[in-house]
Amino acid sequence: MYYHIGRMLIDENFDEGKDCPVCRIKNKVEQRLAEQYLGEGVMEDSTRTEVNDLGFCSRHFDMLFAMKSKLGLALQASTRLDALKKILSRPTSAKQAKKQAKKLNEKTSSCVVCKYLNEHMIRYYKTIAEVYLGDSSFSDRLKSGNGFCFEHYQKLLEYSDHAGLKAKNYLSDLFEVQCRVIDNTKLKLKEFCDHHDYRNASKPLGEGKTALPDARSLFYGKE
Ligand SMILES: [Zn+2]
Ligand SMILES: [Zn+2]
Repeated sequence: MYYHIGRMLIDENFDEGKDCPVCRIKNKVEQRLAEQYLGEGVMEDSTRTEVNDLGFCSRHFDMLFAMKSKLGLALQASTRLDALKKILSRPTSAKQAKKQAKKLNEKTSSCVVCKYLNEHMIRYYKTIAEVYLGDSSFSDRLKSGNGFCFEHYQKLLEYSDHAGLKAKNYLSDLFEVQCRVIDNTKLKLKEFCDHHDYRNASKPLGEGKTALPDARSLFYGKE
């Protein structure tokens, strides 16, 4: 079974592009989700209640702050502070303070955007495997790409059972493309390191120029 929206973004992003296609999908979904929290939906009671309860992580607070509606964010920050203040009471002992610290830690490490982003992304990991199962041309498209960041390679493996009867082929293709991007990045890193040998200093630095940013994308994904 395909999710309509999922398939569209998958078709748009699984190409010969250089970056992890799942990162590109994630960035688009994240942007859309974040925008919802500053749009009209913000005034709906159910949304407000959830934002008050979960809040935003620093990444998503910054993302919202970079958007146009500062007033929407200010209103949400204000009611979120009310919710957090309710947890506070004057601690009467170190034991009670520890308890409060634990509760505060729980309440300040959640994020409403992260919550929905994770849920959406799990649908995408499953749908990518389902597209592989249903569309025989998808294997070539997957292999024409440049692999995945480690987080997304790991997620695609985790949900590969959704490729059903083709799961084995799917895993084999994923493995092939991932080994290729690791080997390519290794080559670039080698060129970069070799260039730092004084005997090679006059030689131009070709592909190795992007070695460290490429390694970063491979380790941590691309924002
Ligand atoms: Zn990625
Ligand atoms: Zn977040």
